Amino acid sequence: MNILVLNCGSSSVKYSVWNTDEEKRLVSGAIDCIHVAGIPCKHIKNGAHISEEIAVSDHAGAVAFVIEMLSKEGIADIVAVGHRVVQGGDRFKEPVLVTDEVKEVITHYFDIAPLHNPSNLEGIVSCQKHYPSIPNVAVFDTAFHQTLPEVASTYAIPRYLAKKHDIKRYGFHGISHDYISREVAARYPVAKKIISCHLGNGSSITAIKYGKSVDTSMGFSPLEGLVMGTRPGDIDPEISLYLMEKENFTPGELLVIFNKQSGLAGISGISSDMRKLLSSSDADARLAVDVFCYRVKKYIGSYFAALDGADALVFTAGIGENSPEVRRRITDGLESLGIKIDVAKNESAQGIFADITASGFALKILVVPTNEDLLIARETGRVASAEKGDKVTK
Ligand code: AMP
Repeated sequence: MNILVLNCGSSSVKYSVWNTDEEKRLVSGAIDCIHVAGIPCKHIKNGAHISEEIAVSDHAGAVAFVIEMLSKEGIADIVAVGHRVVQGGDRFKEPVLVTDEVKEVITHYFDIAPLHNPSNLEGIVSCQKHYPSIPNVAVFDTAFHQTLPEVASTYAIPRYLAKKHDIKRYGFHGISHDYISREVAARYPVAKKIISCHLGNGSSITAIKYGKSVDTSMGFSPLEGLVMGTRPGDIDPEISLYLMEKENFTPGELLVIFNKQSGLAGISGISSDMRKLLSSSDADARLAVDVFCYRVKKYIGSYFAALDGADALVFTAGIGENSPEVRRRITDGLESLGIKIDVAKNESAQGIFADITASGFALKILVVPTNEDLLIARETGRVASAEKGDKVTK
């Protein structure tokens, strides 16, 4: 069964096609720079060293380009399309077959996910147009965190405002944390309490108990929590009000500052790229890495408390999977929590599954490559097959 997986981000469309029977990726790539003024869109095809400028102007055009390319390459036997959808609110606890009602809910959440849900929906609509007889499945980044207890999801603002505007901790990166939870459960069934650190350009940390998310660092939006490439993570809300007053910033301008100009890029003034910062001797670049690591370490301590201890600490995503130095800096000094890495194992663990726990320590420290696309493909196959089965029995 071949499944097309689409991730329509704010300025990109990432795609991959999976043969889910063999769990094999057949092709993958991305179209970048959509809606970026003055820069033409670029198609990058992974593994084929293709990087070409293409004439598309929006997400719908990019999806049409992908579908045409797949058809030309003979990858035509696609049975379903799985879409990563960022915000599913309280409505979706699981992946769902896209119906008109599902599209209405995705649209309802445009206000609280303005950078993502509109392009997610555009991708869905484009697929429905080009593949009219193939089911579309929405896999939500928020769904895994629907198990958060009220004590973790409630913000201490007036209740009536929170209820009126659906303000709560939704959490994001749920597809990745869900994948990590399943991988750890498959390899270490004894690990019941897991702290999953997804450290990439976007970063978040999740406390998982018996396979369920019980707390997570991203909140009402993906801005909260850890320091990220260009997002600040936790800040005092007064800072927004103060800047609006002192700099006459509009909400739109602040949105750009907090989404594109903060985090590692904001502190360092050099780059959002962890590799560049690690290799720089600039004082602000060093400070940016220090603040990044310190924030993760603080969260590990708080999730240790939230979980009443932990059985496994997992590092994943671009930084988590590939940077022994960042992992070492984060875990330094946490022996009192039973967290200690083996220096040599840590150094050699890059982009592969690895157990980097120092001998004699029970709490497993693992490097686990995440694979959100594979999870979306599996779930899409499952939902599409169930739907087909339903139709046959009806
Ligand atoms: P992601 O968003 O998961 O693709 O992660 C992107 C981030 O991972 C960027 O900040 C990269 O600099 C970082 N990254 C990738 N490889 C390495 C590496 N070998 N060492 C440090 N950071 C890395």
